[in-house]
Amino acid sequence: MSEIDDSNLRLARRIVEAACGLLVISGAGMSAECGIQTFRRPGDDGAWDQAAQQLATPEGFQREPQHVWSWYRRRRLQALAAQPHAGYTALASWEQRAPVFVVTQNVDGLHARAGSSRVVELHGSLHRFKCAAQSHAITDGCDQDVVPRCSICGSYVRPAVVWFGEYVPDAAISGAAEALEAAQAVLLVGTSLVVNTPGGLLRSAARRGLPIIEVNPDPALPRPADAQVSGHLPPATTVLAGPAGVVLPRLLA
Ligand code: NAD
Repeated sequence: MSEIDDSNLRLARRIVEAACGLLVISGAGMSAECGIQTFRRPGDDGAWDQAAQQLATPEGFQREPQHVWSWYRRRRLQALAAQPHAGYTALASWEQRAPVFVVTQNVDGLHARAGSSRVVELHGSLHRFKCAAQSHAITDGCDQDVVPRCSICGSYVRPAVVWFGEYVPDAAISGAAEALEAAQAVLLVGTSLVVNTPGGLLRSAARRGLPIIEVNPDPALPRPADAQVSGHLPPATTVLAGPAGVVLPRLLA
């Protein structure tokens, strides 16, 4: 059972109920209760981290295309087998009350599967593919064990995810900017903010005066009461320190 502070919950409810548009910025923690491992967890052995450094890079794919393909195939099958939790459903249902704009770092596709209709995937998707040489979009033959080749240029096919050392696609950046423009409050869920883009989005939201609610058992933003506020990140307006699958259904009841 989570120990969410009741006064924080009441304040957060007032904020979301008053907002005509909600910007949800989500990260790997959003899917933790669906059985999909986060990138960094306090006290873990950094297994994901080490694997990612080797595999989730253009160089890793060039070196070992079959190994990287198989690793992503396993992640994709795991994502397909996972079920979106009640927090996902609560966000999708909130669209009946007000527009919800999801900007996610996740590549697992669970927001859309839960029914959210406006989703910007900053880091691409495990479920889309392109060729390594010329980024031709590939739709056929991507279920196989053996890394496929592009029928146009012959290069290997890779998942259309953003790897270390690659840029977030322009379309995702502009989608996130449009979502920010339309939002009146921000819900930050399950991200450590180690990646730059969501941090930049939050700073822009804070400059526009939008309230920020953080949902995370181990929050990343400075607490509202912190006298010493980090120059890098704005403080949260309120923090709901608990898991997304428990907190979001209570917040958006
Ligand atoms: P991260 O792993 O760096 O941080 C996870 C955050 O989630 C932490 O702050 C942690 O306290 C929090 N958290 C853990 N359990 C939670 C829960 N039940 N409810 C709410 N919060 C919880 O994640 P990140 O900031 O998203 O950065 C990781 C990068 O790795 C991203 O770029 C992402 O693309 C990628 N990634 C994606 C997935 C996925 O698609 N599900 C999984 C792993 C990594």
